[in-house]
Amino acid sequence: MTHAIGEAWLAAQQRIDRLDARLLVQHVAGCSHADLIARPEKPLTLEQLSWLESLVTRRAEGEPLAYLLESAEFYGRSFTVSPAVLIPRPETEELVALALDRLAGIPAPRVLDLGTGSGIIAITLALEKPAARVTAVDISPAALEVARGNAERLGARVDFRPGSWFGPVAGERFDLVVSNPPYVAQGDPHLEMNGLPFEPRGALTDGVAQGDGLAYIRAIVAGAPDHLAPGGWLLFEHGYDQGEKSRNLLQAKQFKCILTQPDLAGIDRISGGRL
Ligand code: GLN
Repeated sequence: MTHAIGEAWLAAQQRIDRLDARLLVQHVAGCSHADLIARPEKPLTLEQLSWLESLVTRRAEGEPLAYLLESAEFYGRSFTVSPAVLIPRPETEELVALALDRLAGIPAPRVLDLGTGSGIIAITLALEKPAARVTAVDISPAALEVARGNAERLGARVDFRPGSWFGPVAGERFDLVVSNPPYVAQGDPHLEMNGLPFEPRGALTDGVAQGDGLAYIRAIVAGAPDHLAPGGWLLFEHGYDQGEKSRNLLQAKQFKCILTQPDLAGIDRISGGRL
């Protein structure tokens, strides 16, 4: 076993991706990329070595890097993540950008984020639109704890409430309702790939056997008219093959200006409409 960061990096590269190895060494040693290059002989303590060993093993077993580093980037900010929450995806930044467009003309908009998880959407909207009054709901107390920690660290004012979808906001109306709900169909083989088995199942799928993954999107679209102000917008993320179904759901509830926006890969990813 080696005690220097440079050697530890080399050893880790034998087992995992080179960049992942570097980021894990930096995380454990609390050093920068520059330190690693300039001072490869910098020693690691035995505690740091055994911590690194366990992180490299977890990475080799497929656990996503974000959980090992306990952080992920979203919209230019660093958020704490834990296995209690979904890891932020770049496509969700598009949802935030669309939401900000819709808020542009409203001086102090009321915003609701459903199923906030780590809080990335609610917190980013609160920081990008400081006059907004943002409420965020999640059914998982462990997720809300992560979200509250992120809001505090980043200095965002968000009213977090525990509960299911519109449950905690009975009688309230918003100018924008936004959500990245669980939408992967329970039978989708994708759930067993790419690190998804390490993420909370309840953040990925509605859990309906032989379903289409849209149970929560149906609930959100059905509940939104009672919680939107006149002219208010509903925007939500969905799966690559759920654009048309999402638009049909919105149409059935008399939404106007119905849209589907592809993500950076050109895949249908966000739909919404205006009340
Ligand atoms: N887009 C995620 C994936 O990679 C799913 C996120 C979600 O269910 N909200 O599968």
